[in-house]
Amino acid sequence: MGNEKAYYGQFGGQYVSESLMNTLAEVDAAFEEAIHDPEFLKQYHYYLKQYVGRETPLYFAERLSEKYGTKIYLKREDLNHTGAHKINNVIGQILLAKRMGKTKVIAETGAGQHGVATATGAALFHMECTVYMGAEDIERQKLNVMRMEMLGATVVPVHSGSNTLKDATNEAIRTWAKTAEDTFYVIGSAVGPYPYPKMVKEFQSCISREAKRQFAEEVGGLPDVVMACVGGGSNSIGMFADFIEEKSVRLIGVEAAGLGIETGKHASAMALGNPGVLHGMKSYLLQDDDGNVQLAHSISAGLDYPGVGPEHAYLKDSRRAEYVSITDVEAMDALMELCKLEGIIPAIESAHAMAYAFKLAKEMTPEQSMIVCLSGRGDKDVNTIADYLAGKGYLN
Ligand SMILES: *Cc1c(COP(=O)(O)O)cnc(C)c1O
Repeated sequence: MGNEKAYYGQFGGQYVSESLMNTLAEVDAAFEEAIHDPEFLKQYHYYLKQYVGRETPLYFAERLSEKYGTKIYLKREDLNHTGAHKINNVIGQILLAKRMGKTKVIAETGAGQHGVATATGAALFHMECTVYMGAEDIERQKLNVMRMEMLGATVVPVHSGSNTLKDATNEAIRTWAKTAEDTFYVIGSAVGPYPYPKMVKEFQSCISREAKRQFAEEVGGLPDVVMACVGGGSNSIGMFADFIEEKSVRLIGVEAAGLGIETGKHASAMALGNPGVLHGMKSYLLQDDDGNVQLAHSISAGLDYPGVGPEHAYLKDSRRAEYVSITDVEAMDALMELCKLEGIIPAIESAHAMAYAFKLAKEMTPEQSMIVCLSGRGDKDVNTIADYLAGKGYLN
């Protein structure tokens, strides 16, 4: 490899075919140039403000704080256009694609959230957009398929492996290798070959940059804890970014424990994964004894990924950040709690972070404070929530 900056400790790298190595080098060069160009930054911040609706509030959740006995602040990424943090990254990558003279974008999607965000950005910036999606996921996520098509994207069903996100990502990478001349690959989380984990972190770091300043202005000083859910790791790395150097701040990433990590049906790559290679990167992955990547399970489609971004793997090994897991049941209880006490319906992904916040709050004092990244809103999850509650006998 010989490219040390591509690594976070032993993790990261560029595990791709020879034909993509040049393409990745071009993307890296263009990105480095862009983020040091005041014109590019001006454009990026213009769209974040006028189109996405940033900055998002740092909201003091008064009723939750009272009940759980510590100060709980919510970074409201759910209020962004398209309902989650993913658009921050998509706007950045598509502006970069345009700057590189590309006319087409491709993306992978699992639940469809990144596909919708990419189709949105592609419409805004007049790019042709193709989204690869597992055939199984297309069946499960009809509403998001409809959204992508309304926004002008072509959704391509992938019939291979488990017909889900992992397979759609492989297909997107394969297609990119053949079409990189005019096509930019928009990756939806802090994963993939270098420089993607670096780019996604940069484009999501607006979350912590704002939150740090807002906290200093509204409360003073630094929070004691900063927390976010971890699928591939983009909202969490964005939430951590500007706090990594602040050693007094505890950084906590919350993975999905699904039905319980002891059941084998979970998505806790940090808790139970081993280092391995997937989608162009080396990181912690869920794999069987032969090194085959295992299927992840979580009630939240956005956390249902068998790996995690390489910088998180490094933050775990270097002990700068802690990673914990929350089950489906714990997340759903926290989701209902947030609905009832604060009038906010969070995404099920974000509810994982809330659930751990409630657990940790018991060990904290009323003077201490935490910021929880509320990565998205729960409108997309209403059917899942209804099924879950019906099964539980809540809604009868
Ligand atoms: C996609 C998604 C996630 C998980 O992705 P990360 O890259 O780990 O942030 C979390 N929350 C919401 C609302 C999502 O849509």
